[in-house]
Amino acid sequence: MQHIIQGTLTTADAKQHIPHTFNLPPGATRLDIAFDYEPKAVETAPYTHLLCFTLFDPQAARGTRHNNRDQSLTITDTFATPGYIPGPLPSGEWQIVIDTHRILPGDPIAYTFTINVGFEPQPAHVLPQPSAPNGRGRGWYRGDLHGHTLHSDGSWDVPNLVAAAQRVGLDFATLTDHNTVSGLAQMHNLANESVLTMGGMELTTYYGHALALGVREWIDWRVRANERDMNAIAREVEARGGLFVIAHPKSQGDPVCTGCDWRYTETMPGVARCVEIWNKGAWYEQNEQALALWYAWLNAGYRMVATAGTDIHGQIPEGIRVGFNNVFADALQERAILDAVRRGHLYLSSGPRLELTARNSAGDEAMMGDAIDDSGVEITCTWKDIDAPPQLRLIADGSVYDTLAIDAPGTQVWSIPPSQYHWIVAEIRDETNELRAVTNPVFLTPKA
Ligand SMILES: [Zn+2]
Ligand SMILES: [Zn+2]
Repeated sequence: MQHIIQGTLTTADAKQHIPHTFNLPPGATRLDIAFDYEPKAVETAPYTHLLCFTLFDPQAARGTRHNNRDQSLTITDTFATPGYIPGPLPSGEWQIVIDTHRILPGDPIAYTFTINVGFEPQPAHVLPQPSAPNGRGRGWYRGDLHGHTLHSDGSWDVPNLVAAAQRVGLDFATLTDHNTVSGLAQMHNLANESVLTMGGMELTTYYGHALALGVREWIDWRVRANERDMNAIAREVEARGGLFVIAHPKSQGDPVCTGCDWRYTETMPGVARCVEIWNKGAWYEQNEQALALWYAWLNAGYRMVATAGTDIHGQIPEGIRVGFNNVFADALQERAILDAVRRGHLYLSSGPRLELTARNSAGDEAMMGDAIDDSGVEITCTWKDIDAPPQLRLIADGSVYDTLAIDAPGTQVWSIPPSQYHWIVAEIRDETNELRAVTNPVFLTPKA
């Protein structure tokens, strides 16, 4: 049996969620949906429209395909097109919601959904099963918290993402496709002795992106006026045991990368406590701006954690110095890694190793991410694996407190008088001012 749904869209429909429904009778074994629209692009514009659709069965979300290349899907009991989740096809009212990420000015867009329902027996595919957890214990682990595949707009599949992480010696890799969790089962199936595979979803909204790390279920990313703002979404991610990270807040926005820059005034940073300041591997201008935003939030009293995410969509080009997270965790397990990130027990680096600790006059000790009573503190910084003659900067409340030229492994101790500063980080920068490493802060708590 076949259903056809048709409609038109204009710029007035941009950044909306446009629902359609259809009824699935009992006994269906296969669902095929083809989404087609014309025109695909506007001749004078360098960008195309970006229309995606999210599919819901009567109980739950079944995924989306966040790209503008291939928008048809097949779902059976044991198979689904990347972006969508296989499984039983419950009868009842299904919903197709068009997510109009980008509609360019020009002729109206005419669209058609062609929905075919099959009742024949379907071939059985083997579904991935979760693999055994990795057994490594307390220590430093280096890895990525942000990556994409064919389940959204990546150019490679989940095994390629894991293989690439393994090639560069990462301890953990993370799959965060746009607005879908359909790749996570396969991701978890690919964990092995050397690489921990982690996952979540990138909430890819019209006014900013955020990572929901550690979640397995689809999170409704749609902000609704007077009903569900970004803080509510962040709270939901945390309530489900996930970690909410504002992603690439200073990325280019519309129309180049629609919705990529962070514009949620209620979440500046609102309830958010993590921000991805090192995005896309290389250190570049938008990351410098994100670092400045993070420092401003720290100065405003928010105890924010900074993270790195390659945001890879395919092979990283050769010759780029890539920033990764270096996390001090109780174990190489997803829960332990995310707990350590939540606590700020990490530094970000494209090579150097860098640690920052503090000790106060009462003998209390703290590492990056921790708070310590400010009765006058000794700050100790240790660095190694220096591959160019760089500069080490101690930053206190956003300003340079001290600068050292370093060209070999070393340690430096500073005595910071009480009641002067609220937070301290260390940066390593090279001769072109490119950031090579930055720690999370040690927070100084004023003595009552
Ligand atoms: Zn993004
Ligand atoms: Zn991304």
